[in-house]
Amino acid sequence: HWQALSENIPSMMQKQPNNDTEMPAACMIWFRFDLRIDDHDGVSAALVSGLPIIPVYIFDENSSTRPLGAASKWWLHHSLKALDKSLRKLGTRLIIRCGDSQSELRDLCIKYNVKTIIYSHTFDPKSEKLDAEIARDFHSAGISLKGFNTSFLCLPNQVRTKSGDPFRMFTPFYRAMVAEGFCDANIFDAPNFKWPVPKVWPQSQSIESLGLNNTVTVSGKNWAQGFHVWAPGELGARQRLDIYVENSLKLYADYRDRPDIEATSKLSPHLRFGEISPHRILHELDKALFHYPDLQGPVEKFRSELAWREFSYGLLAQQPRLNEENFKSGYDSIKWHNNSSDFKAWKAGLTGYTLVDAGMRELWQTGFMHNRVRMVAASFLIKHLLVDWRWGEAWFWDCLVDADPANNAASWQWVAGSGADASPYFRIFNPITQAEKFDPKGLYRNKYIQGFTTLSTKDNHIKSEADLFDNIGKYGNNSHYPQPIIDHSFARQRALTAFDDRDSEL
Ligand code: FAD
Repeated sequence: HWQALSENIPSMMQKQPNNDTEMPAACMIWFRFDLRIDDHDGVSAALVSGLPIIPVYIFDENSSTRPLGAASKWWLHHSLKALDKSLRKLGTRLIIRCGDSQSELRDLCIKYNVKTIIYSHTFDPKSEKLDAEIARDFHSAGISLKGFNTSFLCLPNQVRTKSGDPFRMFTPFYRAMVAEGFCDANIFDAPNFKWPVPKVWPQSQSIESLGLNNTVTVSGKNWAQGFHVWAPGELGARQRLDIYVENSLKLYADYRDRPDIEATSKLSPHLRFGEISPHRILHELDKALFHYPDLQGPVEKFRSELAWREFSYGLLAQQPRLNEENFKSGYDSIKWHNNSSDFKAWKAGLTGYTLVDAGMRELWQTGFMHNRVRMVAASFLIKHLLVDWRWGEAWFWDCLVDADPANNAASWQWVAGSGADASPYFRIFNPITQAEKFDPKGLYRNKYIQGFTTLSTKDNHIKSEADLFDNIGKYGNNSHYPQPIIDHSFARQRALTAFDDRDSEL
């Protein structure tokens, strides 16, 4: 397919104007959260147009519901670099602009005779609205905007109940998705030939000038030094997927809840920035399954987890203020304690509950936290400390490299109990038993709490988290480790009362 196209591009290119000063008609790819070339409908459409292609990224903090957090900015910086590098291998480059999207697009269209703008939907409520406005405005100037869904298996709420309503329960949603063929892998490979380029390249800012990579604090500390574990960009995404399928996919169904075992893919930031398509992931899973039928269980489980992402975007479309308002208004009357020193201790990983603290330190150091630990840490903040889930959501938004407008808000609301298909409000994760069950040897906690294993294995008496608390402080390295900031049984009872006391119906 690509070979035939690449041979025909010269003849497909529109007749060049005779006048040297007249710019030939061009097509623009406006990249956003689709920072890749592989399996990208927009890229295909641009190539098929036969027009010279101008790839553009506009950094516009006002075009989405909320500005990116610090960790996401770090990721974006590196991802843009990676995209530019891939484009240069194809004889083209990424034009960088900063400012109001609409003005920047208008400027480029006028100066470089752009007739078609190709973009991917982000499904962020504010940017969807702006896109529609831009499309209307530009239409009258003879410029068409073509939007594609390049990063999701289906459109938000495209899959509906029999009565035509959007789903609010995950399991029936997922069943319908599979039945309607949305989990089938249809992909096409990245084009590997030179792209048609404009006669004159538009001016571009440097990626550095966007200031996304400012990770050094006033005291000279680089908070992102632990982020070296990541390789942002399309190549990094594909490598991570390949290594995961080869080494760890087999562990997924049984061990995905274990933070001490490498059983999950860590593809979430790559998916967030559209560096890999979910169809590509499904395709690679299908290939693995074809060769190793034993992988049926892990592959099915993985597919359903990918669908949670689709489900969350459906919820965001139903409730565009998902990070601000309870999905179920019955939760509006909860009386939060919102104690700022409790919140500080939680953020710093100093609650005295080792699984929570290890998770919060993992987040700070690497921009990531294992899903099970996210649930426990979030539950601890909301239920044990009675701090409003929105505070925690905002902290995650700033610190996570995969911070996602739908997944983050929907997951926090799931833990709080206020979300659609949420965990029942009386489910209060016990951070002690969760640690014993999911990090039985303390390997995960030892990674982030210095001396943890020494502490827990030095003395035979210390078999459980509860023993650990009793003995904390006796052992060298851990003398600075805090006592639990709140007693578990007391906190549990207090949370049940607070959640029971809501005065409206659920
Ligand atoms: P894997 O287990 O390998 O799963 C593969 C992919 O499926 C993930 O990359 C992700 O895209 C998707 N996925 C898996 N679980 C979920 C889920 N529960 N909800 C939605 N999608 C899922 N995920 C984000 O992508 N961004 C967030 O900002 C985010 N915030 C969260 C906040 C809280 C409080 C909680 C409890 C969960 C949050 N999640 C978020 C969901 C989940 O924790 C991450 O998607 C997952 O940990 C990413 O790791 P992974 O790529 O190794 O996942």
